[in-house]
Amino acid sequence: MSTPRKLVEVRDLKMHFPIRGGLLRRIVGAVKAVDGVTFDILEGETLGLVGESGCGKSTCGRALLRLYEVSGGSILIEGADIAEASPEELRRMRPKMQMVFQDPQASLNPRMTVARIIGEPLLEHTSLSKAEREERVYELMDQVGLNRAFANRYPDAFSGGQRQRIGIARALALNPRFIVCDEPIAALDVSIQAQVVNLLEDLQDKLGLTYLFISHDLSMVRHIADRVAVMYLGKIVELAPREPLYSAPLHPYTQALLSAVPDPDPAIAARRQRTILTGDVPSPANPPKGCNFCTRCPQVMDICRSVDPEFREVAPGRFAACHLLDDTVSASGHGPGRGAQDQKTNQQGSMT
Ligand code: SF4
Repeated sequence: MSTPRKLVEVRDLKMHFPIRGGLLRRIVGAVKAVDGVTFDILEGETLGLVGESGCGKSTCGRALLRLYEVSGGSILIEGADIAEASPEELRRMRPKMQMVFQDPQASLNPRMTVARIIGEPLLEHTSLSKAEREERVYELMDQVGLNRAFANRYPDAFSGGQRQRIGIARALALNPRFIVCDEPIAALDVSIQAQVVNLLEDLQDKLGLTYLFISHDLSMVRHIADRVAVMYLGKIVELAPREPLYSAPLHPYTQALLSAVPDPDPAIAARRQRTILTGDVPSPANPPKGCNFCTRCPQVMDICRSVDPEFREVAPGRFAACHLLDDTVSASGHGPGRGAQDQKTNQQGSMT
């Protein structure tokens, strides 16, 4: 079987927002919303990006589409660096990558009809005639399960789930390859959430789409994602294929997050111990020295308070940033860390 191609390659991406102060509004610091993240998204896959609110996941998604001017790093989409693209290059690249927003109510212009909302990208980026645009709008409405008869209604006339379908149809208008879904179901009733997720999955199958699926809902991410990246305070702390990550998380933060999520496998659920994290998430304007998680980590060691752990491949296809997975820690006498080998053994043990 051939290895899937990398569609998106993100290297050391930084998104820092300046903090200004004093009479002259000088820059006195920075909110490090995204602070050096590195990951790939393979063609046709769904990468889940999870973490608590304020961890930087939405900022990361927006930076990927250059909705912000990034502070550092590179973002290659099909080999072209979007972080460095000129306005003209960016305009040419836009159709390939789109976004589905969290709040369909806020992201749809209430004064435009559904047909105009969905057709707007076609007007902007294509030379289709009015009749061709109309036909394409109907096609898109069919694709997302909206009744064509409602094309001339306004967003207010629709339910939350239908409004999200309008947002998805608009995102699909230009035949994108890559879609950032930013908490696309968070604002919807639970009964509607599964319908929207199923629609996204169907569209992915039919159109060969690649998704970055941003969510704080770990159960939903388990359902939809092929691989999952976990973010804490502006950094990715663990990235792995879905099943190993959920059944045997390596990073203490992932372990704590997952300990609160019911597991469908009764054997895993019985083994799992709830970890309650104490303390608040530090401010991204003033992250702790060393490991970002050191102020709350139940397994913190001395080294964690001074040395930032490297995000690296600790087992085939599994990436994490934690000194517990560092072979040299126990030998160096910095603390009671287990080596990566021990972790791998435990992981295999608990997966069988
Ligand atoms: Fe905890 Fe240290 Fe690992 Fe950070 S590096 S997650 S503080 S053990």
